[in-house]
Amino acid sequence: MDQYQGKYNTKSTSVKRLMREATELQEATEDYSAHPLDENLFEWHFTIRGPPDSDFAEGVYHGRILLPAEYPMKPPNIILLTPNGRFEVNKKICLSISGHHPETWQPSWSIRTALLALIAFMPTPGIGTIGSLDFTPEERKKLAAKSQSYVCPECGKITDELATGVSKPATEEEKSLIDCVAFKAEEVQEPNNSGETEGETTVPEDTSLPSLRQRASALHSPLETAGANVLDGASTSVNSGNFQAPAHTANISILDQHRSLIIMIVVMAIGLLVLRRLILI
Ligand SMILES: [Zn+2]
Repeated sequence: MDQYQGKYNTKSTSVKRLMREATELQEATEDYSAHPLDENLFEWHFTIRGPPDSDFAEGVYHGRILLPAEYPMKPPNIILLTPNGRFEVNKKICLSISGHHPETWQPSWSIRTALLALIAFMPTPGIGTIGSLDFTPEERKKLAAKSQSYVCPECGKITDELATGVSKPATEEEKSLIDCVAFKAEEVQEPNNSGETEGETTVPEDTSLPSLRQRASALHSPLETAGANVLDGASTSVNSGNFQAPAHTANISILDQHRSLIIMIVVMAIGLLVLRRLILI
């Protein structure tokens, strides 16, 4: 546990709890083992033996446990890495209580309880649940035999992860808990998968958009042409108004010109009369 000293806040509930569980799980059993990664207390690797009297009896399965920052208030996520024919690999599967409270996780549960529940849950039928695989017994047995040679890049040969002759079976209390546990894959997928689903949702939008646009343009085109006609009408009326306006101003200017001419003639006549008077005097 020394590797986590100084790296994590040891006063935090989740850190305290995970360090305690790591100590409790230090000794491997013949059915399961689990340990946190050296560099990350919130990611564990586990190994489980397939339940006896099942298609998985010969199998040894390895996987990751991702613990939320809120652990143990929120449940761990389990990801199986060894092909097994019951759960999809590299997919988050979460544990819940089946029945009336499907989303309930009890903070009193632990990584050990989760692993015991996972072992017990393996032989149950998948019935098309997300993340479940309904392989034939033959296929599962074949995968079980193959699983023994699985090597984890972090942990090495997984069969070495299990002890021989060390058994820590579930207590009566744990058994009653395990009986009502269910596992299902999360509907919300990993980021790359959600990207794909986003892509899927955008595809129909993309295909429908042009058709909508076409429909819209088909609807708009008569309106647009009608609008254009209205505009044309308006522009012609405006033009006719503009055409009339210079004519009107021309009329006014002709009248003005005439008026000023008459005034000029009158003024000149008066001037001539005045001049004539002056010369005569
Ligand atoms: Zn590993």
